Amino acid sequence: MIRTLCAASFKVVGAAQPKLLTDVTSRYLHSTYDVAVVGAGIVGLATARELILRHPSLSFVLLEKEKELAVHQSGHNSGVIHSGIYYTPGSLKARLCVRGATLAYEYCEKKGLPYKRCGKLIVAVEQEEIPRLKALHERGLKNNVRDLSIVDSKGIREREPYCRGIMALDSPYTGIVDWRMVALRYGADFVETGGKVVTEYEVSNISTVRESPAGSTEGMKYPIAITDKKGNEVRCRYALTCGGLYSDRLSQISGCSPEPRIVPFRGDYLVLKPEKHYLVKGNIYPVPDPRFPFLGVHFTPRMDGNIWLGPNAVLAFKREGYKMLDFNIRDFADALSFRGLQKLVMRNLSYGIGEMYRGLNIRAQVKNLQKYIPEISPSDVIRGPTGVRAQALDRNGNLVDDFVFDGGVGEVGSRVLHVRNAPSPAATSSLAIAEMIADEVESRFSL
Ligand SMILES: Cc1cc2nc3c(=O)[nH]c(=O)nc-3n(C[C@H](O)[C@H](O)[C@H](O)COP(=O)(O)OP(=O)(O)OC[C@H]3O[C@@H](n4cnc5c(N)ncnc54)[C@H](O)[C@@H]3O)c2cc1C
Repeated sequence: MIRTLCAASFKVVGAAQPKLLTDVTSRYLHSTYDVAVVGAGIVGLATARELILRHPSLSFVLLEKEKELAVHQSGHNSGVIHSGIYYTPGSLKARLCVRGATLAYEYCEKKGLPYKRCGKLIVAVEQEEIPRLKALHERGLKNNVRDLSIVDSKGIREREPYCRGIMALDSPYTGIVDWRMVALRYGADFVETGGKVVTEYEVSNISTVRESPAGSTEGMKYPIAITDKKGNEVRCRYALTCGGLYSDRLSQISGCSPEPRIVPFRGDYLVLKPEKHYLVKGNIYPVPDPRFPFLGVHFTPRMDGNIWLGPNAVLAFKREGYKMLDFNIRDFADALSFRGLQKLVMRNLSYGIGEMYRGLNIRAQVKNLQKYIPEISPSDVIRGPTGVRAQALDRNGNLVDDFVFDGGVGEVGSRVLHVRNAPSPAATSSLAIAEMIADEVESRFSL
C-alpha cells in the first residue's frame, strides 16, 4: 500500500519522540507534480523543504520506500552537531558543515527542538599525535570554526574529570541533537507548505515518456515517469534523488553513471551502563588517523541521557543491514565484484581485520576506550545500536570524501539531478546542503 502523510502526521514538540501517524489519503497512480524528490532521509527532507519554501506555487512530492521517514542513516547516527574542524579548508564539506551547524542551532531554537551544546574534546594520548592535533587546530581556524582552543592535561581534567590525555582541542560549539527528530520537523514544514509525502513507494525506474498521463489535458508537461516496484507511476517535470545507501542504484536506473559506487560500512556502538554515566560529560574524540575517513571510536552523550561509545567501521554484507549476520546476495556480490572495493581492501587489510576483531570482541574495543578513560571496564558496557554508512568509492579504491552531484545525459539526464554522496556530517550540514542543492536545481531546471 502507498501512503501519503498529512500535516497532522508530524508532531515534533519538546523532547518527546515524534509520533508518525500515517494517514492513508489516496493511492498515487498517475499523479503529476512539478518536482519529485526521491528519498526521505535528512537530505531529501531538508531539500524538499527548502525548494517548496522558495517555490510555494509549484507542486512537490517526496517519495520514500519505507513506511516511516528518516529511518536509515538519518535515524542511525551519533547525533552530533559537528562544528567543522576536520574538513579540507575550502571544500564543500568544510563550508557546508560550518554554515550547517549555525543553521541547525537556529532551526532548533526556532522550532523548540531540544539540543545540547555540550562541547567536544579531541584528545591526544601519545606525543606523536600532537603535531596532528595542532594541524587540526589550524584547519579548524581556517574553516572559521568558533571558539576553538588547545588545552593541556589540566584543561582536559577541568572539562572531563575522568579523561586522560596530554593535550586536546576544545570545541565548545559542538553539540548533540536527535537528527531524526530534526528530519521529521523538516518533513512537517514541507507538508505544512503544501508538499505531499508518499511512503512505501520504492522507486524502481526513472525514465522519460512520450504519452501524457491518462486523463491529462496538459500534453507533455510532465515527461519524467517515476515508477515503483508495484507498477505505480508518478509523473513530474523534474526529479531529484537523495537515496543515501542506494544513491548509485537510483542514478543507474535513470541511465546515469553507476559510479561512484556505494559500499556500506556497518558501525556498531557500545552503550555505557547508567551507573557509569558520570565518567563522560561531553563528546570525547580521538585524534583521527588521516589514512581513514571515519573519525574513530568516540564517546557521545545522547539526548535521552545515554552515552554511546563507538562506532567501529566494518564492511556490511547488506546495504541496510543493521545486524551482524544480515546478508543480501546482490549487495554482497556488487561490493565484492567492484574493483574499487578490491583495491581498498588490499590496501587496508590489516586495519579491516582489526576493526572486525574489535567488533566481535568487546574487551578489545574497551581497551581502545581506556586510552581516554582508564576507569572504563568491559563490565561497564553493553552492545548497543548499529548504523550503516553509505561510503562512496571510485574505481581506484579511493574514498570519495566530498559531496557529489550528477546530472546525467540525454532526455532524462537533463531533468534529473542525483545527490550521489552525502557523507557525514551531512546531518549537521543538511540545511546548508539544502540551500546548495536548491540553487543547483534552480540553475539546471527552469523552475
Ligand atoms: C554510524 C553513523 C554515524 C553518523 N554520525 C553523524 C553525526 O554525528 N553527525 C552528522 O552530522 N552526521 C552523521 N552521520 C552522517 C549522516 O547521518 C548522514 O550523512 C545523513 O543522514 C545522510 O542522509 P541522507 O538523506 O543522504 O541518507 P539516508 O538517511 O540514508 O536517507 C536516504 C533515504 O532514501 C530512501 N531510498 C533509498 N532508495 C530508495 C528508492 N529506490 N525509492 C524510494 N526511497 C529510497 C531510503 O529509504 C532513505 O530513507 C553519521 C552516519 C552514520 C551511518
